[in-house]
Amino acid sequence: MVRYVYDFAEGGREMAGLLGGKGANLAEMTRMGLPVPPGFVISTEACRAYLATGAEPEGLAAEVARHLAAVEESAGRTLGRPDDPLLLSVRSGARFSMPGMMETILNVGLTDGSVHGLARVSGSERFAWDSYRRLLQMFGATVMGVPASRFEEALGALKERRGARDDLGLDAEDLAGLAGVFKDLIRRETGEEFPQDPAEQLRRAVLAVFESWNGERARLYRRREHIPDDLGTAVTVQRMVFGNLGADSGSGVAFTRDPATGRPGVYGDYLPDAQGEDVVSGIRNAVPLADLERLDATSYGRLLEIMETLERHYRDLCDIEFTVERGELWMLQTRVGKRTAEAAFAIADALVREGLIDRREALARVGGEGLARLMFPRFDADRTGEPLAHGVPASPGAAVGAAVFDSAEAARRAAAGERVVLVRQETNPDDLPGMVAAQAVLTSRGGKTSHAAVVARGMGKVCVCGAEELVVDTAARRFTAPDGTVVEEGRVVSVDGSSGAVYLGAAPLVPSEVMRRLEGGVDGAAEAAEEGGLVAAVTRALEQADSVRRLEVRANADTPEDAARARRFGAQGIGLCRTEHMFLGERRQLVERMILACTPGDREQALDALLPLQTDDFAGILEAMDGLPVTIRLLDPPLHEFLPDRVELSVRVATAEARGERPEQRDLELLAAVDRMHEENPMMGLRGVRLGLAVPGLVAMQVRAVASAVVARVRAGGDPRAEIMVPLVGDVEELRLVKAEVERVLAEVGEESGVTVDCPVGTMIELPRAALTAGPIAEEAAFFSFGTNDLTQTTWGFSRDDVEAEFFPGYIDRGVFAASPFETLDEEGVGRLVRIAVEEGRRARPDLQIGVCGEHGGDPASVHFFHAAGLDYVSCSPFRVPVARLEAGRAAL
Ligand code: PEP
Ligand code: MG
Repeated sequence: MVRYVYDFAEGGREMAGLLGGKGANLAEMTRMGLPVPPGFVISTEACRAYLATGAEPEGLAAEVARHLAAVEESAGRTLGRPDDPLLLSVRSGARFSMPGMMETILNVGLTDGSVHGLARVSGSERFAWDSYRRLLQMFGATVMGVPASRFEEALGALKERRGARDDLGLDAEDLAGLAGVFKDLIRRETGEEFPQDPAEQLRRAVLAVFESWNGERARLYRRREHIPDDLGTAVTVQRMVFGNLGADSGSGVAFTRDPATGRPGVYGDYLPDAQGEDVVSGIRNAVPLADLERLDATSYGRLLEIMETLERHYRDLCDIEFTVERGELWMLQTRVGKRTAEAAFAIADALVREGLIDRREALARVGGEGLARLMFPRFDADRTGEPLAHGVPASPGAAVGAAVFDSAEAARRAAAGERVVLVRQETNPDDLPGMVAAQAVLTSRGGKTSHAAVVARGMGKVCVCGAEELVVDTAARRFTAPDGTVVEEGRVVSVDGSSGAVYLGAAPLVPSEVMRRLEGGVDGAAEAAEEGGLVAAVTRALEQADSVRRLEVRANADTPEDAARARRFGAQGIGLCRTEHMFLGERRQLVERMILACTPGDREQALDALLPLQTDDFAGILEAMDGLPVTIRLLDPPLHEFLPDRVELSVRVATAEARGERPEQRDLELLAAVDRMHEENPMMGLRGVRLGLAVPGLVAMQVRAVASAVVARVRAGGDPRAEIMVPLVGDVEELRLVKAEVERVLAEVGEESGVTVDCPVGTMIELPRAALTAGPIAEEAAFFSFGTNDLTQTTWGFSRDDVEAEFFPGYIDRGVFAASPFETLDEEGVGRLVRIAVEEGRRARPDLQIGVCGEHGGDPASVHFFHAAGLDYVSCSPFRVPVARLEAGRAAL
């Protein structure tokens, strides 16, 4: 026989799945001997049974009756007894807290008769009628389906007639009249009387709480918070205690530490002569909790004692709801409280020092997302106004600057000392100088793995992308917000990369202390640990993570500066150096020449000019990462990205022709080349290894540059550890061909220089075919690095530059996936390919080194997956390195 109902005395906090968080914790407090009004919990199992069949589960009514009888006995009176009624609260409580998302019904048991009994025993007519009208209001809306606004309108109208500012301005007679109005309203709206049988009230209230699991608000909240839909809610039924019985009563909420900073001390609010819902709804101003000491020193002292007991018992920050009924303190709820990232680190560290938890547990209680938030300066949430628009929060942090609409202008103004925000419809590699110069990048198109987002994150630069509400007119140098505000070039805007909000004007900022210390280097941070406080807490969490993690953490970096920064953040090498980022700026001309070359001689000349530049690039990076692996990837992106815009060129040529002038020879040549190179689907076109095989001399030039840089570093007494990585391989034969070329050049340089150049050659796994043929590929590859950006793109068939802002929000809302698969690895699909490739790759070559260098390498949830899948390292943007270290440690706990 299934059992659905548990007395508080029978449960405990380990039963949250069955009793919900609220019920389990009430049971725990009962078990601890704390003052909890008696009650029982109807389990989530009952809710699931009800939702599955739409009928009250068999046997539930009898079980409820039995437990109710026990509560009645302990209270010495029965539910709704006319002369002295026992009243109940009926509250929802799921396994995971869903604050305010489901229903609660208070004062169950009051009727036309028992309201008089309540008035008599409480000695307050006003209190009794106020309690009754609250029941009518909550029951009418929640159980009987009368729109809540109808009750509010009636209450509002009455207050206006009486000239009352708030509910306290209404007397017993007013409230009695209001109860009548509410009953009429219920009858009119539903054709049904408000039930006068207390047992029926209870039964229907319980079912309504079950139903509220599937309410619109609750569903939406679950989707956002990634809470499964099939858990169901428990229902807590408990004897009412009253905080609204006069000046010696009241309700409050409290935290055992400051949930914003983690600092010790008592925090909370207290509202005299009020029920709990009044505190939360803010209808009257509460006083600081400390004032309770003045109002009722005994209750205050008892509360502090209980708070300390709870914190020691739960070994964590607790939040609490309590009521004082005529000088008697009652605990109505407790749970391990939500907190900011700052408080999470500070509290975990403090609890270790207080001997309540060990360092491993402290590490389990903090997270990478929180750390990332602590590393960026942020806007002062209390002082920003309404946003102009919202986009995809692609790279966190807060930035303020003048809006500019092209890269050159951004660079020009920044060189003159101005702070700018680069606003584009979308960015391309050509925008890099502007992105480097800008405080933030704002685009109206593209998602979290769009160019703007990837590059901005790589640079630790704030980025909001895909703000589709903005109409960006780069030609006119302005954008228009949905409210009609036109922002011309030069006007200051604020961009919040953590929330996706864009504000007009300079929103006030708060700097990040954690970042300053982490940037100072790992050793500097260790020193700072002595000083106590947040920085020390973060440092100690990272040290703990480093001591337990199995995954190595490398960085994606393309410049010596980024490499050095990554190293200060604790990177153990470079997992991806994107060489295409080295072909920008002035060098673009050389690349253009290489692409446009009509003869092998011309091409060779262009390549020869690029060679020394690339050699210097690599030498700088190898120096910054001396003694650590540096994975250099051969050129990857479509060549047309290095050529001028096709439309712009066509317009220039056509305009000249229309004027009867002869177009510039160079424009004509460029246009012909751009036409020749044009691809409908460049992401699936001439890029990656295909490029290396199609453009003679390109691979050789890049490898020669790497090898020469290695030789130069060896001669300078360094310890260069370059690795060469081939992108977008789909078949082992592609790799074999390129590898032969790589090895030929390495040998050549070795011979010329007399220095042995030994660079392992590996490949990216970023196409499904590569993952599925990992065995043969591994025979040719010293290492694999999963390019999960492209692997996600090609596995799902989602264009990484387009889809995120377009329809992902709808997909997330409708539950297709919980988070963008470009952000958090899709374990079921893409993850399966990863596992296959790891297994088959290692079978073919047991010493195969395996890492990941897609954006997922810095995503906390994905890091846990890569740990479980047996990878050797993750590689992510320098600013994500501490996040990845922390999460790699947590994954190993
Ligand atoms: C990838 O595809 O995951 C990757 C790292 O390469 P890129 O982002 O440069 O295409
Ligand atoms: Mg790729």
